[in-house]
Amino acid sequence: MARLEQDILFTPIPERIARLRELAYNLWWTWHPEAQDLYRQIDPDLWELDYHNPVEFLRDVRQRKLEEAAANPTYLQRYDAVMKSLDAYMGAKKTWYTQRHSDAADVQIAYFSAEFGLHESLPIYSGGLGILSGDHVKEASDMGLPFVAVGFIYPQGYFRQRLDPSGWQQAEYNKLNFADVPAIPALDPDGREVVVEVELPGRTIYAKVYKFQVGRVNLYLMDTDIHPNSPQDRELSARLYGGDQEMRISQELVLGVGGVRALRRLGYRPTVWHMNEGHSAFLVLELCRELVNQGVPFEEAVQQVKAHSVFTTHTPVPAGNDAFPLPMMEKFFWSYWPQLNLTRDEFMALALQEQQWGPTFAMTALALRFSEYHNGVSKLHGHVARGMWQWLYPGKSQDEVPISAITNGVHTATWLAPELRALYDAYLGKNWEDNLDDPKIWRKVYQIPDEVLWSARQKLKRQMIAFARQRLQAHYRFVGQSAPIWPVLEDHVLTLGFARRFATYKRATLLFKDLERLKYILNRPDKPIQIVFAGKAHPRDDPGKHFIQQVYQLSMQPGLAGRIVFLEEYDIAVGRALTQGVDVWLNTPRRPYEASGTSGMKASLNGVPNCSVLDGWWPEAYNGKNGWAVGEEREYISQDEQDWNDAQALYNLLEHEIAPRYYEGRDANGVPTAWVQICKEAIATVAPTFSLRRMLTEYVEQFYLPAAGYGVPVK
Ligand SMILES: *Cc1c(COP(=O)(O)O)cnc(C)c1O
Repeated sequence: MARLEQDILFTPIPERIARLRELAYNLWWTWHPEAQDLYRQIDPDLWELDYHNPVEFLRDVRQRKLEEAAANPTYLQRYDAVMKSLDAYMGAKKTWYTQRHSDAADVQIAYFSAEFGLHESLPIYSGGLGILSGDHVKEASDMGLPFVAVGFIYPQGYFRQRLDPSGWQQAEYNKLNFADVPAIPALDPDGREVVVEVELPGRTIYAKVYKFQVGRVNLYLMDTDIHPNSPQDRELSARLYGGDQEMRISQELVLGVGGVRALRRLGYRPTVWHMNEGHSAFLVLELCRELVNQGVPFEEAVQQVKAHSVFTTHTPVPAGNDAFPLPMMEKFFWSYWPQLNLTRDEFMALALQEQQWGPTFAMTALALRFSEYHNGVSKLHGHVARGMWQWLYPGKSQDEVPISAITNGVHTATWLAPELRALYDAYLGKNWEDNLDDPKIWRKVYQIPDEVLWSARQKLKRQMIAFARQRLQAHYRFVGQSAPIWPVLEDHVLTLGFARRFATYKRATLLFKDLERLKYILNRPDKPIQIVFAGKAHPRDDPGKHFIQQVYQLSMQPGLAGRIVFLEEYDIAVGRALTQGVDVWLNTPRRPYEASGTSGMKASLNGVPNCSVLDGWWPEAYNGKNGWAVGEEREYISQDEQDWNDAQALYNLLEHEIAPRYYEGRDANGVPTAWVQICKEAIATVAPTFSLRRMLTEYVEQFYLPAAGYGVPVK
């Protein structure tokens, strides 16, 4: 591979397995466990130490280990098989896209997101939005879409979470060494490195563009930590969602405006522009500016830009939608609006939103006004978004507001446990992945013998518990304490998982409303229950941090200790372990603030049923047989009343339905057959419909192709 400054840092690799380098630089390995195993098998301890990062691994590994692998016939067999499948993938002429849409030429989809969650070793995501973007890129690659993605490589990433002995969250920022991630400097068609310029108040800021290969898709991430930016500007892209509002508007300018310029410099001519959330919405202004610069009148430019633009809104909480005060907009855009042939007032009117704290320029309003195609991320969220943004469409009723819904999904190969993949390979029929969004195929999970599925699930649970114990031991070592009760968690006990961002609307502490009742339910001798928690609060969200502290301290209390644990540093690795390894996935948001949620989809794909408030995606999936619904589908006047009712409903479910179903009615082999039916129903109903394949098919057919000028949008 050409052009790596860090070439010399690598341990020399024996010729026979030299392509381990190339593989490390194609994030295809992130959704192919057999590719990850090629590194793990060489040195399992180092693989863990380097946090599953093959680039770092190849730098750190002892040459002797590489030579041993290169001389091991079993290893070479696996190596050859992986390389063969990588080559087949990269060279495939027949893909979902070529087969379905061979007539659509000149389609180029550009996808913008502030975060991409691709793997635990690349910490440039904070939560669901980033995971969705990462999954979106992977599936675009799998489906063979003409697709390019743009974002930031945050050198300090999102923070690492540590809890102090009182359970208070500490944020640690570790500087990402670019030599340690699969990034190469992006090159323009003439082979020069790409650095883009964006005007900020009183100065020009430069962003260097890096290329990440994600299967067949190129992901370009910008970095402002370069010469000759001022120290302050070098920090601009340092952290995901760090800094104040000025930092944020600067970041969004670089993302939207700089991102368009980066694609131009790289030679792309996108015909579809997809803004994943409003952070990148300044891109529509840049597209208009390009047209105005070519002599197109502004109004006409808007119509053209709109026809090719797609916008996905994710945030039903009003405060979560970015909006900048007008004086700040003036400071950043005074030299920009003349380039659009607009006056100040005309410019501000493009996205004016009156807030309680004054008039603002609202990114969601901008994105909605400048895109023909826009959606919420579940049916319920679509409805909520139509209500939130109704004011932008005078004269329209809520139902007529043109915001549709495309419900989120998860990338199957990323989140599916290898143990279950083996079963699906055996029972769903060859090539099941070619049509993995087809519900008919998934009915075949009913042919998996109960004891086979049960024993795979038990194995995943034991692995998860081992993982959780390791994490807990590391925590207690770090804070210099011995664990309060050891061993924590038991293999045979019904295990609930609750892992998510600790935003207060997610109500992580709902379960603790009535402590005495909870203790009783967790400690029934014949039907015990244990719960694994994980989650981060935003560094400025003190109420969220209090929730974490509360859960942490409760996990030490008599009656709860040993039954409740809190794992630090919720990330993709923890998410994978928990969604694959627990028995029930718990979700208790305050309805209707969960736009979609995706962790529950990961769980069900792995045969873990959901026990969830009917919020986000769950009302679409729940059928009475594939999990449980907490509380009622209604709105409350008082939050206390809502919390109390939901908590009681949850206790009743746990005590009277879930635990009995898990522990009773075991067959001669100890298999709870009625329980396994729920697991199967969860897989069969959730895996196809809440896959990224189904989701992206909808984006392609309802949005991308029409935006590129093909076909009629299905509304
Ligand atoms: C899947 C996932 C999320 C999003 O899950 P929600 O259901 O939206 O809470 C967030 N963080 C991580 C690490 C994940 O894996």
